[in-house]
Amino acid sequence: MKEVILNNGTKIPSIGVGVFRVEDANIAYETVKTALSVGYRHVDTAMIYGNEEAVGKAIRDSGIPREEIFLTTKLWNDDQRSGKVEEAIEASLKRLGMDYVNLYLVHWPVKETYVSVWKKMEAVYKSGKAKAIGVSNYQTHHLADLLEEAEIIPAVNQIECYPYLSQAATIQYCLERNIRPEAWGPLGAGKSDILTNPVITEIAKKRGLTPAQVVLGWNLERGVIVIPKSIHKERLTENLKCTDFELTDEDMTRISALNKNLRLGADPDHFNF
Ligand code: NAD
Repeated sequence: MKEVILNNGTKIPSIGVGVFRVEDANIAYETVKTALSVGYRHVDTAMIYGNEEAVGKAIRDSGIPREEIFLTTKLWNDDQRSGKVEEAIEASLKRLGMDYVNLYLVHWPVKETYVSVWKKMEAVYKSGKAKAIGVSNYQTHHLADLLEEAEIIPAVNQIECYPYLSQAATIQYCLERNIRPEAWGPLGAGKSDILTNPVITEIAKKRGLTPAQVVLGWNLERGVIVIPKSIHKERLTENLKCTDFELTDEDMTRISALNKNLRLGADPDHFNF
């Protein structure tokens, strides 16, 4: 399993399994159990996904030592607005049945609180309930504001990122400041034709890879962690193999040129949840 080292020395596997929109507890449980059985050691959930209990149980039942698994969960916007950060992580840990998470992320940059919430995140880190803290969906201007006040630099910024939304500027900004970028929706979230795009399918065919492996490999090569979601064993296995190869500079350039700043999810500057 390929790993990268976060800015506080914590190691994180460069691919994890995401479990957004896996609300059914049995499916969430089986997905995480299967992912761990085929070799994943990194799971990405959130309070708002409604599956922390199932995720935690699957990890506990897997027989894999807790210290070998990297688990992320996230602070939901309502808890950010109310300022109840400590209560929120406590509640997440209770649902997960764990005494720490590896990474706790501020899920969205809520306009009024995206800077002030960070002090409370730092307190969570200092309490040991999260081995690393970070943010999600922060644009460079949100990060710049946060960094002016921060004592601890966010370890991660998890953002929507796939070839039609390459996020080049945000990724460069993060890497230059030792904030590790992480891609959500790396396969186009099941809403995009990216996996049948001729550039992607041609590179896949030429290299004996699948389109999913090509788009995941493109992000990894740029220093971006990926957390593709699948509930199927074959796809989980297929996606995990994106760490086995390197793309050529020419292929990287061709894939990056597909960018059209096309968001499939909410705009971090204009969301209403
Ligand atoms: P994704 O890009 O991972 O796409 C998932 C979909 O791609 C699947 O539902 C399936 O339809 C398809 N798929 C998976 N493997 C495939 C394969 N090998 N070949 C063909 N199709 C395949 O989208 P996502 O689930 O939105 O994002 C991944 C994870 O990121 C989530 O599960 C969640 O953990 C996280 N996420 C975070 C945020 C955030 O705001 N921080 C938002 C959305 C998602």
